[in-house]
Amino acid sequence: MKKVRKKPLLILFFITIIGIVGGKLIADNKTEKESAEKQANQRKQVIMDDEQWKKKLSPEQYRILRKAGTERPFGDVYKEFKKQGGGTYVCAGCDTELFSSKEKFDSKCGWPSFYDPSKAKNVKTSVDYHLGYPRTEVLCAVCDGHLGHVFTGEGFDTPTDKRYCINGTVLKFIPDSSPSLKKSEEIKKVEEE
Ligand SMILES: [Zn+2]
Repeated sequence: MKKVRKKPLLILFFITIIGIVGGKLIADNKTEKESAEKQANQRKQVIMDDEQWKKKLSPEQYRILRKAGTERPFGDVYKEFKKQGGGTYVCAGCDTELFSSKEKFDSKCGWPSFYDPSKAKNVKTSVDYHLGYPRTEVLCAVCDGHLGHVFTGEGFDTPTDKRYCINGTVLKFIPDSSPSLKKSEEIKKVEEE
């Protein structure tokens, strides 16, 4: 009689153990999946030291991107910018898409102006006090490079009434017809597969 009573208890014990272990495995799998998804959503950051940046950039690009400098207004870069047609503007530091000719407008301020970034997630802002009053600095979200400033409510007849006042020196223009853009798109496709 004693043996008969013991068996169901033993079975119950094993069922409980299986339940606990199984539950834990499912939970672990879920957290692993969640953290993988989180990682995929995070942008790949480009981090280089000063010496590496100096090698990659021209002195003027380095001064602006890495030291929050400003290019001379109405310079050659601006004249070139005004002539450019349809295309994409990527970061000179890390080739990330930042702006497009679709959001470009003529603010007559002497620097390339956009009313919005083309890829909002690639552009971030922070407040600086370099001139003694707060201004909203615009930075590349991937390499943390300084791009310029954004001003709001100036009365421009654009969908956002924002002026992203950007240093053209730190933008690389890729015309819509450029084979290099198609090539980089193909590379991306291969990487995704
Ligand atoms: Zn960048």
